[in-house]
Amino acid sequence: MEKSLADSLNDIFNRLLEHFGELHWWPADSPFEVVVGAILTQNTNWRNVEMAIAALKEEMSLTARNLLGIERQRLETLIRPAGFFRQKAERLQLFAAHLMTCHAGDLSAMLAGSLSEAREELLQCKGVGPETADSILLYAGGRPSFVVDAYTRRLLSRLGLLNGRESYGQIRELFMTHLPHNSDLFNEYHALIVEQCKQYCRVKPLCSECPLQTDCVAVRSGNFS
Ligand code: SF4
Repeated sequence: MEKSLADSLNDIFNRLLEHFGELHWWPADSPFEVVVGAILTQNTNWRNVEMAIAALKEEMSLTARNLLGIERQRLETLIRPAGFFRQKAERLQLFAAHLMTCHAGDLSAMLAGSLSEAREELLQCKGVGPETADSILLYAGGRPSFVVDAYTRRLLSRLGLLNGRESYGQIRELFMTHLPHNSDLFNEYHALIVEQCKQYCRVKPLCSECPLQTDCVAVRSGNFS
């Protein structure tokens, strides 16, 4: 009998968890730092984000008020390692301004209430797309909003659960529909997918060592060995 989508998603999670153990994302000292990281990580790798955040934290404690108070040029210099520094500096300050104006700087208030309304408000902020909004909701707000990224698409396509042409919203919906809405589960699941794709399901995958090899459609179809 063919497995249901819910069973397939649960199996993938359990195997990855067994293989990698709990990863406990996101690496940040505060929810606001998660927001800063989520904006800075757009179009760059995490190592660059870490350098930018370290430079910011050396200059000031990371709060919306402080981010808003710093001169734009200085902010651009500090976050330069993360790339697209002018654009990202503007986005950070616009987000900080929104948080200060609409929620008196209280991020937990912004992320509370109805999940769809909080998500919509985030999406209205300049430069905050679905992946950034879901990362902020999940990792800064502890809200059960599944985060989809390029790794998710690659892994699920190779495993045969996606055809690869689905939109961000369709992939997110797959998880939101077939898994319990539990932020700890969503947190671990996304982190495990990222780890799996960094270690095994790379662009050139290492299938012979992969913990998901026995259920992989790409391998069964002879695409990889
Ligand atoms: S077996 Fe290969 S293609 Fe399939 S999930 Fe693992 S690494 Fe990716």
